[in-house]
Amino acid sequence: MNLDLIVIETKKSKIKIIVIVILTILFIILFGILGMYYAKLYKEKNTQKVTKQMENIDLNNKDTNLNQQNVQPIEIEEQESKILLPEYTENAKSKMKNIYKANEKIAYLTFDDGPSQAVTPLILDLLKEENIKVTFFVLGNNVDKNPELLKREYLEGHYIANHGYSHNYSKLYVSAENVLSEYEKTEKSIQKAIGNNEYSSHLFRFPGGYSGGKYAKIKKDAGKLLNENNISYIDWNVLTGDAQGANTKEKIMENIQKYTNNKGSIVVLMHDASSKILTYETLRDVINCLKNKGYTFDNFYSIMQ
Ligand SMILES: [Zn+2]
Repeated sequence: MNLDLIVIETKKSKIKIIVIVILTILFIILFGILGMYYAKLYKEKNTQKVTKQMENIDLNNKDTNLNQQNVQPIEIEEQESKILLPEYTENAKSKMKNIYKANEKIAYLTFDDGPSQAVTPLILDLLKEENIKVTFFVLGNNVDKNPELLKREYLEGHYIANHGYSHNYSKLYVSAENVLSEYEKTEKSIQKAIGNNEYSSHLFRFPGGYSGGKYAKIKKDAGKLLNENNISYIDWNVLTGDAQGANTKEKIMENIQKYTNNKGSIVVLMHDASSKILTYETLRDVINCLKNKGYTFDNFYSIMQ
């Protein structure tokens, strides 16, 4: 009996062991399958991640490409704008040369020898009030001292023209080449002040005027040399006398009356050097006088471009 019981117990134990072994194998298989499944999922996720990263890299590259594509048209535009910059045409040169012959009553107010701290800002304020655009024939020497004033003139729509660098006749009128060299030096000062390396005034006014005097021959040669370099020069056909001894408002107004004398287009010579406060003080009367005579105001932009 005891033996029988032992045998039965042993059989039960064997069955238990077999069941445990089978269950263990099943678990192992199950875990194996699950493990493989998750391993596969993980692998797929990783692959997706890598693919996405690669896509992103591609997108970035595309962005870079797009950026590069965006940059290129700008470069082209810039190149185009360089090409399209207004040239100083033969037509403009001819208009400038014949300005005094124009019948239209246009007054081109011009101010020489500035910019100066004492007078230029006052003149600019007044011109702003009157909404009149003028031309400044600046000295490179003064531009270097007052670049912010030059920039203001430019930004407020006035034409910046060139009056040489030194205004020192014995230095300037050494030779035609030296006149051109002072012109170029002043152009560089203007470019630097307005922050535009492409600015080119194409317009010079000889200190003391083009004609006559001790340096007549050099000035004549310089005129030719300037023209060969695509630069015009212009004097004036009306002067207020503010640099020729007109030391009262009345004298300046007398000069305006005298020199205007029913002319068509007029180029009026005035000054904005630091000593010319009287020019500023008389400017409103000069403007009103010319308005009453039927003149409208313009600057050389309308001719030069
Ligand atoms: Zn001058």
